[in-house]
Amino acid sequence: MTSKLLLRNFFHGPLTEAAPPPDPAALAELAGRVDRTARARLGRSLSIREVDAGSCNGCELEIHALNNAIYDLERFGLRFVASPRHADVLLVTGPVTMNMREALERTYQATPDPKWVVAVGDCARDGGVFAGSPACVGGVSAVLAVDQHIPGCPPTPTALLKGLLALLENVQ
Ligand code: SF4
Repeated sequence: MTSKLLLRNFFHGPLTEAAPPPDPAALAELAGRVDRTARARLGRSLSIREVDAGSCNGCELEIHALNNAIYDLERFGLRFVASPRHADVLLVTGPVTMNMREALERTYQATPDPKWVVAVGDCARDGGVFAGSPACVGGVSAVLAVDQHIPGCPPTPTALLKGLLALLENVQ
């Protein structure tokens, strides 16, 4: 049985679908707009602290893609920072679990004003597929005031950029 499985996998390609090819020009335009808007609002580039409040890691994979060799968004000035003390935006994923609630609150308190909270993914909106679990508090808005929600399960890197742009254009 095992040898049959190995043989089948050897002769067949992977079953995963190929990722859609990124459009470098559209991506550069979008990322450039995010950076120009951040500089106009803040006088500098945008710094982002990512907080996984209990996600399945699917949203993290898309967020991490923003920094990979294809998207490479740091060239447009967008920076992911290790400390909330250096952040303008908290990018929060997942339903908020009981175990992460306090950490999320403390991360928010450690972030200097002005600061914005962006809930990323369907779970961050209302708990998504984890809604009703006794291990979860709920969506991010159950713990913090949310300035922007980026829908998707998970949202693509392009959707993440569009969400950040909408945040910068619309919040006070
Ligand atoms: S929205 Fe989807 S990808 Fe993101 S944490 Fe929830 S289940 Fe995972």
